Amino acid sequence: LGSSLRDTLDKLRGKSRLSEEDVEEIVKEIQRSLLSADVDVSLVMELSDSIKERALEEEPPAGTPARDFVLRIVYEELVGLIGESTELPLEEQTILLAGLQGSGKTTSAAKMAWWFSTKGLRPAVIQTDTFRPGAYDQAKEMASRAEVDFYGNPDNDDPVDIAREGLEETSEADVHIVDTAGRHALEDDLIDEIEEIEAVADPDTSLLVLDAAIGQGAKDQAKQFDESVGIDGVVITKLDGTAKGGGALTAVDQTDSSIAFLGTGEEVQDVERFEPDGFISRLLGMGDLGQLAERVERAMAQTDIEEDDWDPEDMLKGNFTLNDMQKQMEAMNNMGPLDQVMDMIPGFGGGIKDQLPDDAMDVTQDRMQTFSVVMDSMTDAEKEYPKAVGASQVERIARGSGTSEDDVRELLQQYKMMEKTIKQFQGMGSDQEMQRMMK
Ligand code: GDP
Ligand code: MG
Repeated sequence: LGSSLRDTLDKLRGKSRLSEEDVEEIVKEIQRSLLSADVDVSLVMELSDSIKERALEEEPPAGTPARDFVLRIVYEELVGLIGESTELPLEEQTILLAGLQGSGKTTSAAKMAWWFSTKGLRPAVIQTDTFRPGAYDQAKEMASRAEVDFYGNPDNDDPVDIAREGLEETSEADVHIVDTAGRHALEDDLIDEIEEIEAVADPDTSLLVLDAAIGQGAKDQAKQFDESVGIDGVVITKLDGTAKGGGALTAVDQTDSSIAFLGTGEEVQDVERFEPDGFISRLLGMGDLGQLAERVERAMAQTDIEEDDWDPEDMLKGNFTLNDMQKQMEAMNNMGPLDQVMDMIPGFGGGIKDQLPDDAMDVTQDRMQTFSVVMDSMTDAEKEYPKAVGASQVERIARGSGTSEDDVRELLQQYKMMEKTIKQFQGMGSDQEMQRMMK
């Protein structure tokens, strides 16, 4: 599914304008991706309408490929829906977890406690589930694996009592995470119980825990829990499976909240604070959309050349890395074609550039854009030591950037050629010597 979106986008590479049909085709593929990730139909329709409208009406900034521009719009619209992660200050607080049985509350309670402990806070898990047999043992075991304080009481069958006791007994902790019982379905006694616990615990934040595989059911649950305890954020669990968690967006939309944490396994460490970039890229089956959006934003913000940013002379000093090449390409975008840039280098103006191999510096606008996309998917280490990039990295970079392995290899080839050329000039001696030679 992601690949057909990528195929569609690939066809648009090099275009600077999109036709109405292009936009239709992209939107159709995005719809397909989102629907198969369980995003609610009406949300998908809303999103695609605004994407279509913006893609056709807004002007791409000069030099920005249409494909990048439309992806930025897609990204922005999705961020608009999903939002940034739920705000959780690193200070004293009480968090209440709500959700149906099996959604992952108890596991998430321990995971979140572990996460807060890595931030230097002292968390405690309070287990109030008296409904499910074994709930106490499970929660206690998980809290001990997370190495955090724990309170539960297998001899008491009143969850509200336990919550009250638990908060008192764990008063030395800074972050109190109150785990609750679930039911197989929304039932009145579940709602009554969690309302009472909420009244006693007086949480700063109430989080709804949802299994990534949740589909249409998300809406009713979110509505019900929001009405009873007020949902401030969502935890999506079991993202290590095949489900992409799109159903949880319905809950986010319904409760006008955001996503706080992602659960990615059964261990207490398998937890991530939510970040829109990775989640959106995953939803669409595409890599690094956030980076791409940022890049387009930079292009849009760029009005003046920041000449301090990159000094052509740096090219002649030290190691020439892919980072240098990337900066050089950005500079070319700003300053004009490379032969003009070369004129800015003392000693290069007097015709030395004519001695360069024709294709050494000849990178067309289109290739540059592709290279730039490729480089955005490379790690810093890879850009500093491009020679260490092997076949498996090439594959990963191509996948992450939505380019082909040939594109990646071509970039590395181009780099090698430029590096060799630069080395030759370095070999000629100091800048001064070179200048003298050129006179
Ligand atoms: P609760 O009933 O809401 O408290 O749910 P539990 O925390 O007991 O989780 C139900 C089941 O889902 C357990 O077997 C957990 O190990 C499993 N589980 C919870 N979170 C994750 C996750 O992120 N990934 C995987 N693979 N399993 C999870
Ligand atoms: Mg539980």
